[in-house]
Amino acid sequence: AFGFLESLMKLAESEAEGTYSSMEYIKFLLHPYVKNIRLGTRSDITRIIMHTIEEYLAECGIVHVSLESLEQDDALLASIHKRTARVDETITREHIREHIEEIHLNTLKKFKTFPTIGECARSAREIFLYIFTRSTAYLHPYFRPYVERLTDALDSVASSLLAEQRFTEQAGYFSFLRHFLATESVPFSGTPLKGVQVLGLLETRNLSFDTLYMLDVNDDIVPGKPEADLLLPQQVRARLGLETYRDREKLVEYYFNLAVANANTVYFFYTSSASGKQEKSRFVEKLLWQMQQRDCTISAEPYERIAKYRVHLANAHPQEIPKTGEMVRWMKQQLQLSATALDTYTTCQIKFYYRHVFHLDVKDEVSDANDASVVGKIVHKALFEYFEPYTGKTLAKEMLTQERLQEVVDSCFTNQFGANATGMNMLFKEQVAEHLWKFLERYQIPLVEREQITIMALERSLQVEKWGVTLKGTIDRIEMRGTHVHILDYKTTSDEKALCIRLDRLIPDDSSTWQDAIQSFQLPMYMLLYNEMTDRGTEHITPAYLFLGRTTIDGEIEGGIGNEHESAGTVYRAIEKVIFNMIQEILDPNHAFLPASHIEKQCPACPYHVMCGTQWTGVHRKF
Ligand code: SF4
Repeated sequence: AFGFLESLMKLAESEAEGTYSSMEYIKFLLHPYVKNIRLGTRSDITRIIMHTIEEYLAECGIVHVSLESLEQDDALLASIHKRTARVDETITREHIREHIEEIHLNTLKKFKTFPTIGECARSAREIFLYIFTRSTAYLHPYFRPYVERLTDALDSVASSLLAEQRFTEQAGYFSFLRHFLATESVPFSGTPLKGVQVLGLLETRNLSFDTLYMLDVNDDIVPGKPEADLLLPQQVRARLGLETYRDREKLVEYYFNLAVANANTVYFFYTSSASGKQEKSRFVEKLLWQMQQRDCTISAEPYERIAKYRVHLANAHPQEIPKTGEMVRWMKQQLQLSATALDTYTTCQIKFYYRHVFHLDVKDEVSDANDASVVGKIVHKALFEYFEPYTGKTLAKEMLTQERLQEVVDSCFTNQFGANATGMNMLFKEQVAEHLWKFLERYQIPLVEREQITIMALERSLQVEKWGVTLKGTIDRIEMRGTHVHILDYKTTSDEKALCIRLDRLIPDDSSTWQDAIQSFQLPMYMLLYNEMTDRGTEHITPAYLFLGRTTIDGEIEGGIGNEHESAGTVYRAIEKVIFNMIQEILDPNHAFLPASHIEKQCPACPYHVMCGTQWTGVHRKF
């Protein structure tokens, strides 16, 4: 319940000029309380709606969403309707639109502005009431106790002396709610069965026990640590008539003593550490001291037993995946390999199998405006649109103007974020325009002045059949410099090392050296594709990355695969051999797909880690 409120607050906080962060919006829509709000009697329809909205925003790359334009978006409504019609033909586009509107109206639109703290608490309460009546969430056994506790807490705020207080900004209300609700806890009542019962401490009242096992009787749990609350310190709580830490401690002590008094035998379980970080509860200390006084002893040892556990924690390691005959047959007929696929194969063959053979695609995520992938997309689009009219022409300095660049960047941002770019988007647009102008002014124009450059193609997709598979790739820009072909790939990063090839570490026939020596197959793959398509000869092709993410933009942003010791052609020939060997290995029925050799490094960020059972690698990295 608090997770739902938190996601609503984060969404409300992301509001800027009437639009919301798509990422927060999707998180909110996909919360189980929201995606199970019924349309008529069916919650499955709402789930279809929410997941279609998620896909739509990701596909269109929309990073800020306006509720009103979403409600009126015909393309979106048509796509939702197409899907819902498969399960219920009676649902019309109008039903869908009204349903989305109703959800917005009863959740987010209710939680936008508040005149006072009391109103804020009342709005939150009404939203929970809406969820209770319209969603299937109430069917969950824990919905009621948690939401009841939360709404009781909201009621107590709405009727307290604080209710009429106000904050100057909306963020103040959310911060207040977070602090206030963090101190609440939900009683855990046991099952009404005979035999062993599991109860929370507060539920033991009026019950008597033969044997009572009290777990976790550490001081930070019974009675618990006082939370440092900057917004509502204990003195302020006392003055406002709200529960204080002292009240809570007295209550816990009362129930503790009551439970002990009503049991024939009591065992306390607690942990203690030599560092003193964990201590037994002060109430247990008190009992021990009473027993020591009774037995006239200064040692508590006779009453305590130390239990030590031998724990063997073994982490699951991913198993290799053997190739079946059918798998190999399919690969021989249909496998398509890009440079990314080859990169994946060197880092983890199982990941390659899931993505490129099993086609278990990773869902497109809705991104934030400053997400690296959004930056990359916009920069690529802007450069494509800028140079597109010059394809087939020789570049001249006069063609490269700041005014035209600004027009292109404006149009790319309008397509991506809508016509009224504001706040962060405006800043982002200015940064992109400024950086791309530096690229033209300090890299492109000096180059044009030095050499004759003719743009031959932009975003050219190439595909060839070779060594029993299809090889493919899309090249950002192909240009002629004099008689030489240059293949360029835009990178919005600045790190050359992340893409480099180290021939000194490479033995093409030894697959164990590939990963360490080759960070990216991209440029050799482009050389191979272009050469196969044109038969120009690799010695006449120079591939390079343009590192647009560098702070200093000049001729140095161009980085290829060769160096002073090895030409691009030499590097290419070694990598061509690796590609050939790799394809043979992929198609070899006796070679299973193997897991990553560095699982601690590769698995935490891998989308397949649940299937491989390597979630523990992420936990391991946090320490
Ligand atoms: S989780 Fe690890 S072993 Fe499994 S596919 Fe991903 S990188 Fe490979």
